[in-house]
Amino acid sequence: MLNLVLFGPPGAGKGTQSARLIEKYQLVHLSTGDILRGEIANGTPLGLEAKKLMDQGILVPDEVVIGMISNKLDSNPGAKGFIFDGFPRTKAQAAALDQLLSEKNTSINAMLALNVNDEELIQRLLSRGKDSGRPDDANPDIIRKRIEEYNAKTAPLIDYYKAQDKYTSIEGVGTVDQIFNLLVDAINHLG
Ligand code: ADP
Repeated sequence: MLNLVLFGPPGAGKGTQSARLIEKYQLVHLSTGDILRGEIANGTPLGLEAKKLMDQGILVPDEVVIGMISNKLDSNPGAKGFIFDGFPRTKAQAAALDQLLSEKNTSINAMLALNVNDEELIQRLLSRGKDSGRPDDANPDIIRKRIEEYNAKTAPLIDYYKAQDKYTSIEGVGTVDQIFNLLVDAINHLG
């Protein structure tokens, strides 16, 4: 199996690049942000709870997203591999993911981390907000809060994956094609 964590701050381009990677490598795309927005759209109790946090740029509780990922892993038994996009976002999530994958006799092959500076991120998110309709993209204060949450809780995962020798840094500023080529290069060089 090929199991990849596509990592990076909000606005780094994870969704865009995931879409291309799943096509090239025939992987299943698991985006916790997309799953949560699906719950909101369906008006489920989980969606209603999550929306309150997401609209403020705050992470939803670990148990919630870990449960969602566990379900998705179980419902794709024949997958060639997975791209995890927006998950894990905390050390507890990363440890849970390792455990879930080991129960299926598999593991993460690599964490591909898209590097984008804060100014570029804020610009991208504000311009995405104009057509995405996402409430968390519309307001600079919420965007700043998401970047703060990322720096406090999510960026430390770089060390978690470095310790497992799975961290690869990818330049995330450039054209979509250039960045895709860097990702493909990194994947093709995995041991
Ligand atoms: P982005 O990375 O562009 O901020 P996402 O679509 O990945 O957007 O996530 C949007 C929001 O959904 C986050 O700000 C957070 O509130 C919630 N969320 C998504 N994934 C997770 C996760 N793994 N853990 C906790 N909260 C999450």
